[in-house]
Amino acid sequence: MKLITNRVYGAEDILPAEVYKWQFIEDIMRKQARSYGFKEIRTPVFEHTELFNRSVGDTTDIVQKEMYTFDTKGGDSISLKPEGTAGAARAMLEHGIYNDGYPIKAYYLTACYRYEKKNYGRQREFHQFGMEIYGAASPFADAEVMCAADSVFKRLGVRDIRLEINSIGCPECRPKYTAALKEYFTKHEEELCDTCKSRLQRNPMRILDCKSPVCSEIAKGAPKVLDYLCDDCNKHFDEVRSCLDAADIEYTVEPTIVRGLDYYTRTVFEFVAPEIGTVCGGGRYDGLIEELGGQHTPSLGFGMGMERLLLLLKTQNIEIPEPPVCDLYVIGLGDKAKLKAFKIIEGVRNASLIAEGDIVGRTLKAQMKYANKIKSRFSMVRGDSELENGTATLKNMETGKEKTVPLDEGFFNEFFSAYVESNNSKLLEQLDDLN
Ligand code: ATP
Ligand code: MG
Repeated sequence: MKLITNRVYGAEDILPAEVYKWQFIEDIMRKQARSYGFKEIRTPVFEHTELFNRSVGDTTDIVQKEMYTFDTKGGDSISLKPEGTAGAARAMLEHGIYNDGYPIKAYYLTACYRYEKKNYGRQREFHQFGMEIYGAASPFADAEVMCAADSVFKRLGVRDIRLEINSIGCPECRPKYTAALKEYFTKHEEELCDTCKSRLQRNPMRILDCKSPVCSEIAKGAPKVLDYLCDDCNKHFDEVRSCLDAADIEYTVEPTIVRGLDYYTRTVFEFVAPEIGTVCGGGRYDGLIEELGGQHTPSLGFGMGMERLLLLLKTQNIEIPEPPVCDLYVIGLGDKAKLKAFKIIEGVRNASLIAEGDIVGRTLKAQMKYANKIKSRFSMVRGDSELENGTATLKNMETGKEKTVPLDEGFFNEFFSAYVESNNSKLLEQLDDLN
């Protein structure tokens, strides 16, 4: 077979046989988000490029190298979202959601796009679950988003994931730190990689984030941001730690975390798994909303990478339960019985069970084989004679036990309405009688 084209490099298909894993994780995320009082926000996949230049920051790798930017036929510069915060913040401002009062708590599940080299846990189209709080300056808010992310890992049964936290100060104290960093790295300028040489002038803090072995070795000796925090930032960081302690959340203070986006202030954090690296990154961005033209609005949040989370579950052998594919497979033998079977299948489906029947023209034997293959819990066979005496042969596919059951119109009505009213349990009970 020769396809006219394959998928784009760095993009992945999520196939029907795998999608239950995503749905299972997403269900947990939605549930946890709800218990923390967050509502979902869905924003467009593209935004005016300006939004990301201003919010993510034009000295960042994302804006400099990784963004999918293009001109529309109308001449506008548009970019695919490289992360979820900018669009959510823009929407919050554009629709005046802040008029409803603070805090605003929103979560998203979205595809993101970054032009990066494909690697283990790194794609060009990837997916993030993220949570955002706008209008909350309290350290309890910092702890709350970390607890929320942590709760997702815990619900999924993830082990050995480390929460690393740091504070990178505010516009008050950071300039002093940046100056100290500049001085330190200037002494090592010759050894730095080319990217870091240019970072030295534009944003030396970014050098701490460099993955090249030489730069990260040099970075080990760099001044530590925690030594430069102003009193307010120090106090905030202490309080965040007290809140985490109160909630029994374990963490380590990691002074080298700076995060890759420009908008962070004060608290930054990452959830790091030894096998995978960073699975979730977040922090506070008190200046972001002003940067986008709004009032001063202390805000914070995180983004969790879905693909990395799935890899983590895989490496830790955490099984995701596969949902049932079929409860009842109905086989009609003969033209009349087939039509009746079709009706039964519809009835079962409308009563919220999963039912299947033949749509490809299989023989009886092949249908039984197929019912087995899709792991149907029960099968029901009706030939013309059973049609005449109003019965059917019901089989428990696991045990192989069979039973003749009466199937008149009245029985069905009763059967299904009882089942609907009792929220599936009655029908399941009846079927389970075959055990
Ligand atoms: P990294 O240092 O690995 O490049 P980052 O700092 O660029 O990560 P963030 O912008 O903080 O990542 O995004 C939050 C999370 O989104 C990451 O922790 C990761 O799980 C996921 N993520 C980021 N970029 C990618 C990508 N290209 N492919 C898959 N997941 C990604
Ligand atoms: Mg990155």
